[in-house]
Amino acid sequence: MLKEFYKPNSIAEAIGLKMRLGADTYYLAGGTELNSLDFKKPVKYLISIEKLGLNKINKTDEYLSIGAGLTIQELIDKPEIPKQLKTAASHIVNRNIRNIGTLVGNIGANKSCSNLIPILLALDAELTTATPTGEQKLRIEDFVKDKKDELIVSVNIKQKKILKSFAVKKYSRTANDISIITSAVVLEKVDNKVKDISIAVGGVDKCVIRLRELENKLKDKELRQKEEIEGIIKNMVNPIADIRGSAEFKKYMCAVLVVDCIFEAFKN
Ligand SMILES: Cc1cc2nc3c(=O)[nH]c(=O)nc-3n(C[C@H](O)[C@H](O)[C@H](O)COP(=O)(O)OP(=O)(O)OC[C@H]3O[C@@H](n4cnc5c(N)ncnc54)[C@H](O)[C@@H]3O)c2cc1C
Repeated sequence: MLKEFYKPNSIAEAIGLKMRLGADTYYLAGGTELNSLDFKKPVKYLISIEKLGLNKINKTDEYLSIGAGLTIQELIDKPEIPKQLKTAASHIVNRNIRNIGTLVGNIGANKSCSNLIPILLALDAELTTATPTGEQKLRIEDFVKDKKDELIVSVNIKQKKILKSFAVKKYSRTANDISIITSAVVLEKVDNKVKDISIAVGGVDKCVIRLRELENKLKDKELRQKEEIEGIIKNMVNPIADIRGSAEFKKYMCAVLVVDCIFEAFKN
């Protein structure tokens, strides 16, 4: 049961509180995940991020830095946000959730079927996190894999990655349902060959994963046949069966979505 709710005015105060309050303490962004009936862990203390000013967007020649506290709808509405992130954000169920749920909450919730994490992984995004000794840069891939617990301040994407061609896809039972499989590809083509490729999928493991083995098989070569790539993917992923689909079905959908992403990104 919730005992206390805090609204710190600074990042230093927020991380100080988190350290002092200890276990069962959570940062609160939009609360769509923390307040949902699916959230089964005990919550004793909540630390709101509302007053921490985590909603700025900064551009340099090298990086686009997106304030982690932006809502998902703001990602769609703000002109500074690149198309690949807007597309992924538009895949999130409906405007009610998008108006309240945030970029940071999506990463913090770390759901296997997240709609935002695949494109962030494919773009090799880095997180700026706040620690008692100062700010730290962390690859988002490491954050989701290791289930880190630090306060995320911003999401940083290299400008040269943003310029590469991309595709983002999802499969859900209805338009207004959480996705079953999510997929994103970022690709560079030179002389009709795949020069560089990053492939991320959600819904087939405990968290969103990169398909590095497949990336290596495709790099520096002409694109293989669709059926051949689908076969490789099916041997590579091991989704679990649940109420939303059998393992075989998810494997099949994953292969189809990833191949569609690869071919779409290759064509662009
Ligand atoms: C009905 C419903 C539909 C949904 N549909 C989708 C969907 O289509 N696609 C999808 O991807 N997700 C979906 N979700 C999951 C989730 O609600 C969203 O991913 C949303 O982005 C979470 O953001 P939030 O701001 O509400 O997070 P919160 O609930 O506030 O927090 C979520 C997690 O992030 C942590 N957190 C918050 N701030 C920080 C911070 N600064 N640093 C580190 N950790 C932090 C919290 O402690 C918590 O563990 C859905 C959830 C619900 C209830």
